[in-house]
Amino acid sequence: MIRRVWPVLLAAALSAACTHVPQKSALAEWSPSRNFDDRRPRLIVLHATEMDSAEGALRVLKSANSGGRVSAHYLIAEDGRIVQLVKDSQRAWHAGGGRWGGYNDLNSVSLGIELDNDGEEAFAPAQIESLLRLLADLCQRHAIPREAVIAHGDMAPTRKRDPSARFPWQRLAEAGFGLWYGDDLPEPPAGFDAALALRAFGYDTRDLPAAVRAFTRRFRGEEREALDDTDRRILFDLLNGGARP
Ligand SMILES: [Zn+2]
Repeated sequence: MIRRVWPVLLAAALSAACTHVPQKSALAEWSPSRNFDDRRPRLIVLHATEMDSAEGALRVLKSANSGGRVSAHYLIAEDGRIVQLVKDSQRAWHAGGGRWGGYNDLNSVSLGIELDNDGEEAFAPAQIESLLRLLADLCQRHAIPREAVIAHGDMAPTRKRDPSARFPWQRLAEAGFGLWYGDDLPEPPAGFDAALALRAFGYDTRDLPAAVRAFTRRFRGEEREALDDTDRRILFDLLNGGARP
């Protein structure tokens, strides 16, 4: 009697303890090849913790916040210390719902970096220097394009605004990461459709004012819901490759 019940209990206990989905199809014969490697992230998403301390953020990233369980691959403290919480090849839970370009499950294709910052203060120089070193390491090891570095607010414009309008995107671009615009901004051609251009750049424009807020936060350091003439020139320049470091 007990012997019959045990396998059922064991199976139930194992399935409760393990949230991973099965990695092999029951429909197929398993005939393994040795020719494979880990899946490769294609994007890097930057966050601000919007908390008061790196220690507090670490606790949350190992457990949960008010919205449920969360994590990130890396946390960079204000003093520049870099902590890794999830292996690069694994899927951390940092992005949530959102879109960027053709991607709509950002957790599956990205690495998440949290910066210890309360969401209002300036970013510490030592923290940015560590971020630049980490970006160089990640882009080199995983062959991630150096411009493929975006804000959480870029991919979830209706929900998120981190890493805030104070994040130094121009400094990043000068070091070769992300995109920035040139000093000489050409006039877009007649008929230039800014909403279409935002979408081509990567933004989800289904809520256009939210997409414009994300764009102006990142490229103008302020949040607005309508593009001005300079914004349109910047957008046009970015679509043409932007500034080259
Ligand atoms: Zn975030």
